[in-house]
Amino acid sequence: MCQALLRMDTTNPPGNERICADYLAAQLAEVGYTPTLLEAVPGRTNLVVRHRGRGTLPPLLLTAHLDVVEADASKWRRPPFSGEEYEGCLWGRGAIDMKNMASMCTAIMRRLARTGATLERDVIFAAVADEEAGCDLGSRFLVEQHRSLVEAEYAIGESGGFSLHLGDTTFYPVQVAEKGFCWVRARITGEPGHGSMPRQDSVITQLGEALAKIGRTQLPVHATRYVEQFLDAVRAQQPALLQPLVKLVARPQLLARITRLLPGVSVARGFSALLSNTAAATVVRAGNKTNVIPGLAEFEIDGRTLPGQTDEDLLRELRAVLGDGVELEVMKSCPPVVTEPVASPVYDAITRAIGAREPDAVVVPYMIPGFTDAKYFTQTGARWYGFSPVKIERGTGIKFADMFHGHDERVPVAGLVWGTEVLDTVVREVASGHRDPARDQPSAP
Ligand SMILES: [Zn+2]
Repeated sequence: MCQALLRMDTTNPPGNERICADYLAAQLAEVGYTPTLLEAVPGRTNLVVRHRGRGTLPPLLLTAHLDVVEADASKWRRPPFSGEEYEGCLWGRGAIDMKNMASMCTAIMRRLARTGATLERDVIFAAVADEEAGCDLGSRFLVEQHRSLVEAEYAIGESGGFSLHLGDTTFYPVQVAEKGFCWVRARITGEPGHGSMPRQDSVITQLGEALAKIGRTQLPVHATRYVEQFLDAVRAQQPALLQPLVKLVARPQLLARITRLLPGVSVARGFSALLSNTAAATVVRAGNKTNVIPGLAEFEIDGRTLPGQTDEDLLRELRAVLGDGVELEVMKSCPPVVTEPVASPVYDAITRAIGAREPDAVVVPYMIPGFTDAKYFTQTGARWYGFSPVKIERGTGIKFADMFHGHDERVPVAGLVWGTEVLDTVVREVASGHRDPARDQPSAP
C-alpha cells in the first residue's frame, strides 16, 4: 500500500489527493468498511473511516495527510514518484512524510476489521488533504464542517516515532508540543522622491537595514518544559555526551551554539528553533519604477511562537529588534499546541510497545518548530501524540530529520513493518482500554 501511494503524485499544490483517497477507500471497502469521502474543493479529498467499539470510552483518532511537498527529480538517486524498492527502502516523496503513516493506519484498520476486534473505543482513521499548504482543505475543513466525524479523546499523527541515535542510545521522540505561528506584515513609510536625488532616509535603505537586523538577531531564549524534558532524558542516558551542554543550560544564550557542535545530532539545526520565538523575513515589496524612490516598503515575517508565548510577546521582541520606524501588524496566527499532561494511556502504551521490542531504547517527549494537523484536530479537545513509528537501523546513514522535505526521501521496508506492528499494539491497547501483556511481545510480520 505504501508503494502504491508513493506512485501517486499528490504534490501540493495542486494536491489531487483524490487518487490516494480513492485507493485507500477501496482497500478499506474490501474488508467491509464504508469510508466517507469529503471535499472542500473538488479533487482535494479527505477520507474518514470508523471501526466501531462498544463506546464505553471516547474514540481514538489516527491521522495522516495524503499531500506531499514538491520534489526536484534531478536531485534524487531514485525517481521521487517511483515507489521503487532499492537498498532495502521504499523511495519516494512522502515515504516518511507521511504516506508511510497512511498505509500503516489503513493496514491496522483492515486488521481490526478482519480480526473482528471488539474494542471499548471507536478507532477513527482520517486521511486528509492539504496539510503541506496550511490544512485549510483538510484537517481544518473536517474539524469546522464535520466535527462529529473526527471528535476523539486522543489523536495519533505527525510527527515522531522514528529512531534517533545519539551516542550509544536510541531514542524515540513523541511529539507532544508544537510551536504556534504568527505571520506579521512590517511596514515602513517615508518621503517619496526622485531617483536622481538619493536620500539617506529612503524607505528602501531602511528596509535593507530592517531585513539585516531580523536576519542576524537571535530572539531571546525562553526555557520550556518540552525542551528540558527532552534534554533531561538524553542527559540521563548520555552524561558524557551532554556534559558540556548541562553546564551551559544555565547560560541559555550559548545553548543553541553548543547543540550545533554535538556529534551525530542531525536534529541540532531544528533544535535551536526550539529555544526561542523565531522570525524569518520571507516576502519583500517596495517600489515599481526605477526613477522613483517609493514612500512605502513592506515585508512579511514568518514568526513562530513557543508554548507560553503570545503574539503580543513576539511583537514586543520584534519591536525591540526593529525599533519604532517599522509598523507591525499580525496577518494570521495560531497558538502553539501542547499536550497536557504528557502522561496518558497513549504515552504509556507507546513506551511499552517500544520497550518490548527495544528494551534499551528511550521514549522521550519532544516539541517541533513547525506545525501539523495537530493545530486543528486538537481543537475538538483531543490530546495529540505525534507518533508515526519507523525503525531506522544504526549505521544506515539514514537521518530521519534530513529527509523531511529533503532529497532521497525513503523508508526502510523492515522499519515500516516494525512501525505497523508497534502502532497496531498501541492502537489495540488504547482502544481496548486495558493492557494485554500477550500483545507486548513482538509478533512475526
Ligand atoms: Zn507532514
